[in-house]
Amino acid sequence: MTTVFSFYFLILGLLFGSFFNVVGLRVPKREFLKRKRSYCPKCLHSLSWFDLIPLISYLFLGARCRYCEQKIPLLYPLMECASGISFMCSYILIGFRPELALALLLMSLLHIIVVSDLSYMIIPDKVLVFFFILIMIYRVLAPSGTWWTAILGALVGLMGTAVIIMVSRGGMGGGDMKLLGLIGFALGIKLLLVSFFLAVVMGAIVCVVLLRTGLISRHQPFPFGPFIAAGTMTSFFSGAQIIEWYITRFFL
Ligand SMILES: [Zn+2]
Repeated sequence: MTTVFSFYFLILGLLFGSFFNVVGLRVPKREFLKRKRSYCPKCLHSLSWFDLIPLISYLFLGARCRYCEQKIPLLYPLMECASGISFMCSYILIGFRPELALALLLMSLLHIIVVSDLSYMIIPDKVLVFFFILIMIYRVLAPSGTWWTAILGALVGLMGTAVIIMVSRGGMGGGDMKLLGLIGFALGIKLLLVSFFLAVVMGAIVCVVLLRTGLISRHQPFPFGPFIAAGTMTSFFSGAQIIEWYITRFFL
């Protein structure tokens, strides 16, 4: 039965992933609710259901728009895959427990953020507020720990990042600050700190590699959202083990 449900969550993740791509691409351009059908950004031709099957359309169309031959960015199918896999892993690791809802909310939020941040270097407030409300509802329905752990997590996320923004003068932006506040609200201080630490380490490694290979220049702005997303996912699923490992390694 588990295999059937795993497959079901994989498909669900692929379908939602395709929708999250649209949300992440349209919300920053303020056209999420304006135009109903999906369309090619170059020739503006409306896309049929055939063009919109996650992954399959991309492969079938040879990574190009059927009407104008414009290349479809690899980011879209990659994010669809990531969404499918993260939904499936959430189910396999958590099962049908209340935390599964939190996991799916987090995966959805992070997916949209990554698409927006990579495409426009924007983490849209509307998306953050929407998920803040949903996570708050989750916290009320499935309370864990004390009520102030969430508030404290949010404050540490917001204020910690504010200090870093002031010190680093542009290393991170206001969007990163609000996102980390929301992650602190969802996960509490401990997992927030693990998420942040992992994000900085991964961000630093990728930044050094990109600088060395000349793919970015020294003062080029650099989206940090994807690293926050990767750090948060790792921390959500194995943060407790990471903390335990760290304590036994350095303090015992
Ligand atoms: Zn086109």
